[in-house]
Amino acid sequence: MADDLGILLEDADGVVQHCTPSLLRHLGLPEAAGQYRGRPSSALHEVVATAFLDRAGYLDGIAFLRSRGAAVDRELLTTAAGHTLERTYLPLRDGDVLTGTLWQFGAARLPDDRSAERLALFEAIFAALPGQMAVLSPTGRYEFVTPSAIRDEALRSWIIGRTDREYAAHRGRAASFAEAREASIRRVVERREVDEYEEELRDADGATRHYQRHMVPMFGADGTVERVLGYGLDLTQLRRVEQQLIQSQKMDALGRLAGGIAHDFNNLLTVIAGCGDALMLELDDSDERRELLEPILEASTRAADLTQQLLAFSRRSVQQVTSVDVMEVLDRTVAMLRRLVSDAIQIRVHRAPGAQHVPLDASQLQQVLVNLVVNARDAMASGGTITIDVRPLRLLEPTSGLSAGEYVELQVSDTGHGMTEAVREQVFEPFFTTKPAGVGTGLGLSTVYGIVTTAKGTIRITSAVGEGTSIRVLLPCDCRELVGGAPATAGVPVRGTGTILLVENDPLVLNLVRRRLQELGYDILAAHDGVEALAVAAQYEGPIALLLTDVVMPHMGGGMLAQRLKEGRPDTRVLFMSGFVDDPTLAAEIAQGDEGLLQKPFTLHLLAERVAGVLARP
Ligand code: ADP
Ligand code: MG
Repeated sequence: MADDLGILLEDADGVVQHCTPSLLRHLGLPEAAGQYRGRPSSALHEVVATAFLDRAGYLDGIAFLRSRGAAVDRELLTTAAGHTLERTYLPLRDGDVLTGTLWQFGAARLPDDRSAERLALFEAIFAALPGQMAVLSPTGRYEFVTPSAIRDEALRSWIIGRTDREYAAHRGRAASFAEAREASIRRVVERREVDEYEEELRDADGATRHYQRHMVPMFGADGTVERVLGYGLDLTQLRRVEQQLIQSQKMDALGRLAGGIAHDFNNLLTVIAGCGDALMLELDDSDERRELLEPILEASTRAADLTQQLLAFSRRSVQQVTSVDVMEVLDRTVAMLRRLVSDAIQIRVHRAPGAQHVPLDASQLQQVLVNLVVNARDAMASGGTITIDVRPLRLLEPTSGLSAGEYVELQVSDTGHGMTEAVREQVFEPFFTTKPAGVGTGLGLSTVYGIVTTAKGTIRITSAVGEGTSIRVLLPCDCRELVGGAPATAGVPVRGTGTILLVENDPLVLNLVRRRLQELGYDILAAHDGVEALAVAAQYEGPIALLLTDVVMPHMGGGMLAQRLKEGRPDTRVLFMSGFVDDPTLAAEIAQGDEGLLQKPFTLHLLAERVAGVLARP
């Protein structure tokens, strides 16, 4: 190695300290290195300069480096004989003091070294890029490929010189991706421009992966496409997120639609149930027409449950701050559940004593039970057993998203066909169903999930194919009192006095409620929206005991109306009526209001009870 290098060492005064014979030999000069020792180096440089093509340039360079004296410098020089040499200048220093200079001449080995260095650098850059890169010949043979494209090292060297088609055959894969790549390379070569397309590949687990492929022409000196640079970007994650976004937008649109329908429907049901109730009160117990009226009322109750399901699904239902006894609801519902299943299916109920109140309303809890039981039924075409367990559970420490405390565990188990892992992962997705069209909607478990998580509970599934499924719902225990105080004695309408400002934009509901409240003894001021209501209130001089108002109305909604009215009449109580609150801040406002909310559709009994309850409060 030392022999490859010619070295000249001079001191700070420019006196030659050492000069190797190889220096002169490299330059094709007569070897008499020893004679320069102790003499000014300028004499030696004069001689050395004669060896180079650009003699003056060489000497200028030396003078420049000396005057600057600072940094290491490298330069490629061409000798008169046509060889390329590398000259290195290395200032030697002791602290700040220049103590000498080292010149080094070597065969032009370094250009190669450098390109190797550069190549290594580029390879490292390619390897670090998230994309997959390959350089291919115009016939699609691999010349270079990054580790991100082919992780396996042996395979990576195997593919050099080979094509995608050969690769597919080697790996036992379908050749369709190779054909698409070949076609793309052909387009690049013909059109001499970048070609882009999206590629779907199956990975080893059979999952689909999406790639964006760019095939970029690399031109030779004659302007033809000499090579093609293939660049692939993995879009799998992006596509997944896109899908989720589309799904959530779909759900959002559907939620709005469902919520909107439920809103209008609730108004209609309030009228149907209300008028039916009113009629029922006027009929004697022995009246035959009761038989016609009862199915109407029953149907309207069922329709109300349906709109509740729609609202729960759209998650826009105003959460009534209520607490419900799981056992009590279960007792009320079991008969109905038994009617849902065939005789070949047995329903067993196990209950353990203890805390049983959860922060749901009865209809929500019924929805949970009905959905779980219907699913269990559907999984047992040839019969079996459904077991419903209710028991209190105390979590001493926070576990998997649940805080420590008292819970009620509700478990529905079946002896049906069970579900596969893949199904289990998707059951909470809206519209996911394995049932034939017309049988499954795929909304059951997603609704249950919505109800349970809104109540800050969790839901877990254990299932084995062929053995059955067990769905376990944990709900935090709730020991608060029922909102609205003790229920009034059923059947006896609660009469009252005082002035009520009734605001409702649906004239049918307005008339029904007005008539009913007038019958009960109240004086009614009516308005169709918030603006009209404020005008009516401004003209009325007496006290207004209660503002009974719809929430969603044109011009001015109930929330704003209540706020404005209370500015002038702080003693007026407020009771909202709604089945649907679109705006979460409004929902919060209403939920916080001390008088609360009358959920539509309501019966006339409930109307009378709630109005009397609000007015009776101190
Ligand atoms: P749907 O009942 O309309 O299909 P769900 O959301 O209630 O919608 O249920 C989604 C899917 O979950 C069902 O299609 C079924 O494949 C599966 N599933 C739910 N409950 C059970 C169960 N108890 N046993 C087996 N599979 C079930
Ligand atoms: Mg279902």
